[in-house]
Amino acid sequence: MPNKFLAEKLSTQTSSSLSFLAVAPAKVIRGTQVFAAAVDDIARLGKRPLIIGGKQTLGEIQRFLEPILDAPVLQCLCTHYNRDCSETSLLSLRKQANLHQADVIIGVGGGKALDTAKLVAYQLDLPVVTIPTSAATCAAWTALSNVYSDEGAFLYDVGLARCPDLLVLDYDLVQTAPTRTLVAGIGDALAKWYEASVSSGHSEQTIVISAVQQARVLRDILFQKSLKAINEPGSDTWREVVDASVLLAGVIGGLGGAQCRTVAAHAVHNGLTHISKNESIHGEKVAFGILVQLRLEEMVQGNQLAAAARQQLLKFYAEIGLPSSLNDLGLGDVTLRQLVSSAEIALNPKSDIHRLPFKVSLEQLMAAMVSTTAPIDTSYTMSRVSVLGISGEVEQ
Ligand SMILES: [Zn+2]
Repeated sequence: MPNKFLAEKLSTQTSSSLSFLAVAPAKVIRGTQVFAAAVDDIARLGKRPLIIGGKQTLGEIQRFLEPILDAPVLQCLCTHYNRDCSETSLLSLRKQANLHQADVIIGVGGGKALDTAKLVAYQLDLPVVTIPTSAATCAAWTALSNVYSDEGAFLYDVGLARCPDLLVLDYDLVQTAPTRTLVAGIGDALAKWYEASVSSGHSEQTIVISAVQQARVLRDILFQKSLKAINEPGSDTWREVVDASVLLAGVIGGLGGAQCRTVAAHAVHNGLTHISKNESIHGEKVAFGILVQLRLEEMVQGNQLAAAARQQLLKFYAEIGLPSSLNDLGLGDVTLRQLVSSAEIALNPKSDIHRLPFKVSLEQLMAAMVSTTAPIDTSYTMSRVSVLGISGEVEQ
């Protein structure tokens, strides 16, 4: 059947030729007092920027933005998003952009502000500039926005056509953010290795192999430099860790693309956002999610490497102040009902948790969530959990 063979071959070629990558922002400007230098680049993208940020953040950091706000070549309008990157927030911002006749969107803030700005720009087909005010995520870099409910519960993510047109990283501005945001950024960046090595560690594709290896390099840089960076804000080491969390983590997401997706750590984060008493920030929940993922590999597969990795992370988390347990996340008195519903959300049929190389039941996930700090136990298996009366397979 040579024709069938040829047709199959052609269809394979066609599908592979359709893949696209959004690897990096078109330009990154970084340094100190960089905003005056950024005006010309912004003006090349548009003359009527709509600046989107958190209400409080925009007030606090206005002095940094003055070179942009006062530039005669730019007609800026500042506005704020409502509580979260939610559909009501996006609708209101699109209206404001149209009223202002905005021709470029500038996002200023942490992950939620930047995700909002990127998505408004994408929906209106406008260029976008990202200005991170903390090192809490790599949202300033990536072609992805997370959409939440008005109450802050994760709903879905949207893949964007390209990375931002310009990223402006001002170290003086980032240094004004609380240390907790850098610590959270370290947690989110660490997840790149633990998730990419599971989802794509056996890939034969050149670009994906490269992304996974960069995730390992990123993890090692964070292990080596994080503590010094936290103790010496503004130092060269601090800058390297900011670059690691904001830029290199973004590179890995850009190169790896859909092939190098999140796995259980972010799925656990997504579930936790649905618990109403949820005051921790993204990277803190993701860091906890890494421990849950390793615990699952340890308990379900008997994976000793995962057990050792969890112990290594527990020590590292204690040194730099990342949460290791539900209690550390401020969820020590969470009810069983809340725990079940957040685990159910983490296990929904579309969840990336199913990229793990084994099936996970609700009981297994809950057992992992409440035992992230357990000492290493080589004899621990799910049959033992069964003896404790919390086992039982659930069809997914
Ligand atoms: Zn993340």
